[in-house]
Amino acid sequence: MTGNSQSTPPVGSKDTPPRIARNYIDGRFLDAGTPFPNLSPVDGRLVGQVLAADASMVDAAVSAARAAVDGDWGKMAPSERFRLLRAVADGIEQRFDDFVAAEMADTGKSLVQARTIDIPRGAANFRAFAELAQARAGECFHTHTADGQRALNYTVHRPLGVVAVISPWNLPLLLLTWKVAPALASGNAVIAKPSEETPSTATLLAEVIDRVGLPPGAFNLLHGGGPGATGEFLCTHPGIAGVSFTGESRTGSAIMKSAAPTVKKLCFELGGKNAALVFADSDLDAAAAGIARSAFTNGGQVCMCTERVYVERPVFEAFVEHVATHARALRLGWPAESDTDMGPMISAAHRDKVLGAYAQARADGAVFVCGGSAPHFGDSRDAGAWVEPTVITGLPQQAQALREEIFGPICHIAPFDTEDEAVALANDSDFGLAGVVWTSNLSRAHRVAERIQAGMVWVNCWYLRDLRTPFGGVKLSGFGREGGMHSLDFYAEPSTICIKL
Ligand code: NAD
Repeated sequence: MTGNSQSTPPVGSKDTPPRIARNYIDGRFLDAGTPFPNLSPVDGRLVGQVLAADASMVDAAVSAARAAVDGDWGKMAPSERFRLLRAVADGIEQRFDDFVAAEMADTGKSLVQARTIDIPRGAANFRAFAELAQARAGECFHTHTADGQRALNYTVHRPLGVVAVISPWNLPLLLLTWKVAPALASGNAVIAKPSEETPSTATLLAEVIDRVGLPPGAFNLLHGGGPGATGEFLCTHPGIAGVSFTGESRTGSAIMKSAAPTVKKLCFELGGKNAALVFADSDLDAAAAGIARSAFTNGGQVCMCTERVYVERPVFEAFVEHVATHARALRLGWPAESDTDMGPMISAAHRDKVLGAYAQARADGAVFVCGGSAPHFGDSRDAGAWVEPTVITGLPQQAQALREEIFGPICHIAPFDTEDEAVALANDSDFGLAGVVWTSNLSRAHRVAERIQAGMVWVNCWYLRDLRTPFGGVKLSGFGREGGMHSLDFYAEPSTICIKL
């Protein structure tokens, strides 16, 4: 790890005036709302001001959305709806560099990551869900009852109505559009609330949607916080039929409470404490590189990141050193530099939480093989939210660092002796989002993958996604699935129509 790259300002910083992230309701950008600052986690500079929506603006957005569902948007021919969604994808691509700069400014993530993952996926989501919704078929049954009656039963899919989409800061545009696109494709009107940490690409998305010309109210954007603020106002609002939420498990629990009185439909993609199992028969070079990628990508701030690694005892010590070598080589740089491997944590508060977890692990007896503190740059980044990539060993399975999600660039590596023990260790968690198995034994790969209690298990790879497949968690990691038709299943309910013949 190096924390000493040359001082180069990131793209879209000094020469870009701070933006104002405004709310977008009923086809209009509003100057109303309570301003709060958006600070760069790279060096603490001001990125822009954000206008937080209050309860009356939530009411206005719900009314506008309802009117859209009952009016032009709800009555629009599906083929026209899909055309508009494809135009949104085109619009994102036309402003690709603006989106990249905005995502980097809010998060400090690298240019490479924003250009190759976040923004292309944001555009692709609109195209993919327009196509999937177009291809959606209902069910049809010819019915003959025992008493001789005949009927034709078939299903139609009805949108839920007005849905709220609440998203986190780690993959801002990607995760927001992963919900907004299938919700709109299914004919709902959407009220999107991005994380208060990352308002910028959502605001650009509203600009693109405005220019494409969706009917007013079909898409609304509200900025602001969660508890006692915009997020909670949405989750308690009787005019909202469903909430699709990605974020922390504790927040999911709070949203369940808020949404219970009005019995909203919920889909929750929550936290993880993901395990990787490395068997001695695996390609250990590939496994070490894979573990480093799964622990440190986006600074460990991806729900699928691996924070617990279990390695078969004969190769344990060499493997720990191998992963630490990868960690030490990671370059913490300015977002715009092409050789930057890792950016900062999202905020000073999150950096303090991650460093607090490091301190707790140290107090619980962890051995720090590398990392363990904040880097020193000797330039303006010392005012940012940086943390070193960290590899630790030696903790008991009950230690806090092995039970709670840290969401930072850290993994703990422990040895195991048998396949059964490895599976038991992987499953010994309140979370169940993702798992990874590294082995060259084909039978073992199938056997172990099936036994891991998680919504997604990778074998000899990580973060290799086919967006048509279901993704989601079990236990504290949530419920409901996103991806392909599974997303569309959330945003529309089938109704059965029975015609007597
Ligand atoms: P968070 O739960 O703090 O916030 C997520 C969103 O919820 C934000 O928009 C926030 O304003 C809003 N919110 C917070 N409290 C709320 C409340 N009481 N009512 C309504 N809205 C509320 O999560 P975060 O810190 O932004 O994101 C990190 C978390 O997200 C991690 O736990 C990570 O594992 C999880 N995550 C999960 C997935 C997945 O697919 N399972 C993907 C990405 C991130």
